[in-house]
Amino acid sequence: MTFNPEQKCSPPVPEAQALLTLDLAALVANWHSLARRVAPAECSAVIKADAYGIGLEQVFTALLKAGCRSFFVAHISEGLRARRITQDPAIKIYLLNGLLLSAECLDLIASHALTPVLGSVPEWQFWTQSPQSHALPYALHINTGMNRLGMQIPEALSLANTAKPALIMSHFVSSELPADPQNEKQIKSFEILRQAFAGIPASLANSSGIFLPQKPHFDLVRPGYALYGGNPTPDQPNPMRCVITLEAPILQIREIQAGETVGYNATWIAQRQSTLATIGLGYADGLLRSASGSQDKTGAYGLFMGHKCPIVGRVSMDLTIFDVTNVPKGELQPGKKLQILGPDLSIDELASNSGTIGYEILTSLGQRYHRIYRQS
Ligand SMILES: *Cc1c(COP(=O)(O)O)cnc(C)c1O
Repeated sequence: MTFNPEQKCSPPVPEAQALLTLDLAALVANWHSLARRVAPAECSAVIKADAYGIGLEQVFTALLKAGCRSFFVAHISEGLRARRITQDPAIKIYLLNGLLLSAECLDLIASHALTPVLGSVPEWQFWTQSPQSHALPYALHINTGMNRLGMQIPEALSLANTAKPALIMSHFVSSELPADPQNEKQIKSFEILRQAFAGIPASLANSSGIFLPQKPHFDLVRPGYALYGGNPTPDQPNPMRCVITLEAPILQIREIQAGETVGYNATWIAQRQSTLATIGLGYADGLLRSASGSQDKTGAYGLFMGHKCPIVGRVSMDLTIFDVTNVPKGELQPGKKLQILGPDLSIDELASNSGTIGYEILTSLGQRYHRIYRQS
């Protein structure tokens, strides 16, 4: 796919120090597999935050072609980027963050056929009473436990006879933990709402919600993370295909003696004679500082030709050091690539070794990578 420089920085190969490969065919396969799983419910796609760092335009275009008809973004700016690609009002672009109570926001939303997700009674009144929004579709977000956005259940019930939303929705608190009793509670609340808004499409499940044993798919599901290859079932093998590969060539290889230290503040001390490889990416590129490996704490690791190579010392802004002592000497060479993410090193694995979740790994992916979008 050609790259639009306005949309995402992607320096060419000789200028970049790392390569990010985004497999749009795997993304589309992931969408089809979720769509099959939830049919006859509709499968939408959540493409907020630049499609979780992967590239909003590329993801939107690929999924549109695959047959996806409903998309969710967070901000108006993201909705406008998607609208530039298709003006077809049958392609629904929902704004999860709703609208600020400003006439300017409302004009933008109405004139670009974006669909706001209204999350409070004042927002609903503001939208429905404005002449610009007259008869335009909107969704209602109802709070069933997250206490983040959404009107309260009694407020929604009191609107059930007057409001005619195109969609009612709510959001799970802990759907990645199937044993959490909160899931069942939220499903029960949502069923009551659904009965009150009879005949109106309803949506509750995010990626992990799709895989809950109760199958709370209702009329439409809203996966994000699983589309991009994240594991929606953390206690089981990942049913999704890998979308993202991140590799960087080794800049330098060096030998150090036992007792020498590595990196800022000397947090790692070699216990044996060690071989180190330095690559040109760091926390400015989204390899979090919490992935650092110290004397006290093992950090994340990379893969060099299948060998596990732990990060040693602090991840710095533009550079990270890996312990490659266990790699056979003949295989090591500057310029050869070390993998940080890929089919054998998942987002979830890197995240847990960095003390965070895969969502943060994805949305932290930096702007200095050379990006390749693979279509097959
Ligand atoms: C982000 C988001 C989603 C997608 O969640 P995933 O866990 O990435 O599938 C769905 N619904 C709402 C309201 C969200 O904010």
